[in-house]
Amino acid sequence: MGYQLNEDQALIAEAARSFSDKQLKPNAARWEEEKSLDRSTLRQMAELGFAGLYVRDDVGGSALSRLDAALVFEQLARGCVSTAAFVSIHNMCAWMIDAFGADDLRKRFLPDVTRMQKIISYCLTEPNAGSDAAGLQTTAKMDGDSHYVLNGSKSFISGGGFSDLYLVMARTGGDGPKGVSAFVVENGAPGLSFGKNEKKMGWQAQPTAQVIMEDCRVPAANRIGPEGSGFKFAMMGLDGGRLNISACSLGAASEALERATLYSKDRKQFGKPIADFQATQFKLADMATDLEAGRALLYEAARRLDTKEPDATKFCAMAKRYVTDTGFRIANDALQIHGGYGYLADYEIERIVRDLRVHQILEGMN
Ligand SMILES: Cc1cc2nc3c(=O)[nH]c(=O)nc-3n(C[C@H](O)[C@H](O)[C@H](O)COP(=O)(O)OP(=O)(O)OC[C@H]3O[C@@H](n4cnc5c(N)ncnc54)[C@H](O)[C@@H]3O)c2cc1C
Repeated sequence: MGYQLNEDQALIAEAARSFSDKQLKPNAARWEEEKSLDRSTLRQMAELGFAGLYVRDDVGGSALSRLDAALVFEQLARGCVSTAAFVSIHNMCAWMIDAFGADDLRKRFLPDVTRMQKIISYCLTEPNAGSDAAGLQTTAKMDGDSHYVLNGSKSFISGGGFSDLYLVMARTGGDGPKGVSAFVVENGAPGLSFGKNEKKMGWQAQPTAQVIMEDCRVPAANRIGPEGSGFKFAMMGLDGGRLNISACSLGAASEALERATLYSKDRKQFGKPIADFQATQFKLADMATDLEAGRALLYEAARRLDTKEPDATKFCAMAKRYVTDTGFRIANDALQIHGGYGYLADYEIERIVRDLRVHQILEGMN
């Protein structure tokens, strides 16, 4: 194991960091208060190539590696976890269409998706199918030759009601994973509606809502790949999704650690900076050590996915479990080092803690 970023990767990370510092960090608190994503910021991210990071370039993608993508999300999340994580889901869906969709489907949707002219959400979870996603009950039945009719509801959908496209996993066959197919459903399709924006602990700058399909008509041409492959595609999408969500935890945790280190040098108690107490130094050293261990595992998992190694899926899951747990703990420790001030919104640590909590829950419960 070992990682050394090449010159291009250093430049990619630097571009993401600069954008994050200038465009995300100063606005993150306001977006949380307004409970909304900023479409123009998302489009600026697309101009930098961040809306189709590992999508092929004939449809506007950046054709980068999974490690490159992880570097980008790590930096974006330093500025705004909620926006970075949302863009990571958009990227996962874009890749699924690119990797598994027919050429006309790719060419119909991806040029808009990679420019963020169309934003896309991932719709797997249902009220009765969470961790057991293969138990999903939404149905898709052929009606004539040219359309499917979808019935069912998806819960907790990031971007529900906001996004222009919904990548929906629905049952075309029998029970279990092999009965599931994947579809692109356009906002405005007859029979598609949305629940209320859920009130939640973190990720408040992005909407989370139910996506409801009642006799929702979807062109057969919007099916991704053959019938019965949708669950496999959804899981393969999550390999990269798990890397990206881990990268968001890593970046936000390193931001929290930097802030805690600076704060500890500034804050005086008992006549000296709290950084001078060895207990604080031990704590900061442990946080830095855990962060680097997480980074090494994440980059290694990304490398394995890039080189299509047989154990890549396992490594993506291991990185997701380890880095999101560790990232949350580091952010929480950073809050503790800030004392009561860490609990105040002005110091922005509490938002990081709240935002990172959900990374331990979604894309595969830790
Ligand atoms: C803010 C937010 C955004 C989300 N965005 C999306 C999205 O965009 N698209 C999407 O499809 N989904 C999304 N989700 C849903 C998320 O993926 C699910 O919440 C997650 O998969 C867990 O499902 P569940 O909530 O039904 O929990 P459950 O599966 O009901 O789990 C409840 C508890 O039971 C435990 N448990 C479950 N099975 C077992 C088992 N076999 N053995 C032992 N323990 C078990 C779990 O670990 C957990 O502690 C989002 C969720 C949130 C909170």
